[in-house]
Amino acid sequence: MAELELILAAPRGYCAGVDRAVETVERALELEGKPVYVRKQIVHNIHVVRDLETRGAIFVDDVVEVPAGATVVFSAHGVAPTVHEDAAARHLNVIDATCPLVTKVHSEAKRYDTRGYHMLLIGHEGHEEVVGTMGEAPQAMTLVETESDVANLPDFPESQPLAFLTQTTLSVDETRGIIAALKVRYPWIHSPVKEDICYATSNRQAAVKALAAETELVLVIGSANSSNSCRLVEVAREYGADSHLIEDETEIDPAWIVGRTRVGLTSGASAPERLVRGVIGWFEANHTVSAVTELETVHEDVSFNLPRPIRRALAVIDASGTAAKE
Ligand code: SF4
Repeated sequence: MAELELILAAPRGYCAGVDRAVETVERALELEGKPVYVRKQIVHNIHVVRDLETRGAIFVDDVVEVPAGATVVFSAHGVAPTVHEDAAARHLNVIDATCPLVTKVHSEAKRYDTRGYHMLLIGHEGHEEVVGTMGEAPQAMTLVETESDVANLPDFPESQPLAFLTQTTLSVDETRGIIAALKVRYPWIHSPVKEDICYATSNRQAAVKALAAETELVLVIGSANSSNSCRLVEVAREYGADSHLIEDETEIDPAWIVGRTRVGLTSGASAPERLVRGVIGWFEANHTVSAVTELETVHEDVSFNLPRPIRRALAVIDASGTAAKE
């Protein structure tokens, strides 16, 4: 059997927002006991969702499915204000695990709306983050999915203040093209101080570009509904490698590996590292792996505080533990 080398992208896998959201559900289960309701998939990874289900989380599509007065966690992707209103009407105990970087986009949308801007939101129709962001000002926002959409946008007069926002998990390169087209069509359009594509998305795309240059095949571990994982496959292909999205090692097609000597592995921001280990194990069981190395393009050191209700509950436990010892 021919030898092959596995090269792992770094950074890969969990971002700070996903880490926080998953820990939020775990802590809520410890603090509140089973069940804890979660609106939508807490993060877009089926393994993470199944694992939390076995521990007592119940995933629902809508807060109307949550019994009145129960605890519900909102996912990392954010929710529209109407979801908060519906939860309040049912007297739910809400723990909002929206990633702070998504909350930042919601705040920008509210600010622009208050100042009379019309916003062009660059993103994918139907993605939960887009639904949540558009919910902040549905009358003042138009979705733009591709560069060719720009030509079909309305002829806004120059007296209409315009601004663009972006989903956090887009392709950096594609978005650059859309923004350039918007600036040509509407030269007065206001750009955010810093673009909304998050650090984790940009870093994972930069890492996969380097990986694609070094390998013939890049396997991206992530779920099909994970926007940032799908973008990693596209970027790897654009940079010259064959690439496939897999949930885990059971989805590897052995035909992909035939004739390969250097295979790259990476994982989306919602895929836990144990899935990468599973894929490495599959290669070690089925091929002669000469080396497993890592190609680091940037070192990440980002973390976010847990949501306030969880921090408060943990502080109370800490304080009562300290009091008991005294
Ligand atoms: S991908 Fe970015 S925006 Fe989304 S949860 Fe992770 S850090 Fe937050």
